Amino acid sequence: MAPISSAPPDGAALFSPDYLTASQRFRAAAAGAGAGLKTLALQSRGPCGESLGIDVAWLGAQSAPKVRLHVCGLHGVEAHAGSAVQLALLQAPPPLAADTALVLVHVANPWGMAWRRRCNAGNVDLNRNFLDTGASWSGCPPLYRALDPLLNPPLPPSRDFFLLRLAWFALRHGSAAVRQAIAHGQYCYPQGLFYGGAGLQEESRLLGEWLRTRLAAATSVFAMDLHTGLGAYGASTLIAEPLPGSDATSLSQRLGLHVQCETSSPAAYRVRGSFGSALPRLLPQARIEFVLQEIGTAPPLQVLHALREENRWHHHGDGGDHACKQALLAALCPADKAWRNAAVRQGCLLAYRAAFNHS
Ligand SMILES: [Zn+2]
Repeated sequence: MAPISSAPPDGAALFSPDYLTASQRFRAAAAGAGAGLKTLALQSRGPCGESLGIDVAWLGAQSAPKVRLHVCGLHGVEAHAGSAVQLALLQAPPPLAADTALVLVHVANPWGMAWRRRCNAGNVDLNRNFLDTGASWSGCPPLYRALDPLLNPPLPPSRDFFLLRLAWFALRHGSAAVRQAIAHGQYCYPQGLFYGGAGLQEESRLLGEWLRTRLAAATSVFAMDLHTGLGAYGASTLIAEPLPGSDATSLSQRLGLHVQCETSSPAAYRVRGSFGSALPRLLPQARIEFVLQEIGTAPPLQVLHALREENRWHHHGDGGDHACKQALLAALCPADKAWRNAAVRQGCLLAYRAAFNHS
């Protein structure tokens, strides 16, 4: 029988207003839980010159063969919900078997959270940055090339009938094709949305190296990667990465939660260079299962519009505080207390089910 998650009644109180607060709370909670703590320090800095790092907390057996890996904040500004979930997990960790560890990677993109951007300091979408060694850092979907002038105009935010013009593309090519072309990942437009980079980024490298070293003894890894934006408001969508020996049906049965397949999910899209796709390469000795969790926030076009306007402001405005930064935060982390409670509840539920039901 799957256990009931012990999500706190006031999950909204676990949301932090900024990276620094989130990091301090995470470190304090890790110490309180008796967890091991490691910080992967970055060269980039926050808006007040503060140092940035990816904090990792380790609960349970040190060389555990079974690892539950929980990652949040690959998309910087989306980190608030995942940070709150991890705080809840540290305050009330799921009971772990003697051969099992729970590893929490707190804010995989600290710069993005600190500066309220989805990407890192190099405008790179880290969830498109985990390419295979020897892969070509080039290319983009043909339809993205056609969309680039509309998606990434070299001007600060202004009213320019974006949604109307995008609707024309959708009418002509189909909305699913347009969505797939935009979100797939592109390696041609360094200032564009969903840019995957020209090389492995510092965050991706540090996280990959740490996982390779620290999880060397793991034979079974169940990874969860928490995002916000996709799906119905406050609802959880679980999407399985298609990996050998791991399928959405068996995951659904074991977790007691509906897990969709990446290729068949009507809401999702296929992505190049995702974190989940890199895990079998990073941990070739282990059986990997990977579930991406999305907590829905706003309609997809509203989220895309918010991303577009913030990206224009960053590259062609003065990059400082602006209404479009607030709009992006609102689109990916609603202030609504009910939404925040639901996000923590859903995040904890998945982590608890994974802790108990993962073989
Ligand atoms: Zn995301």
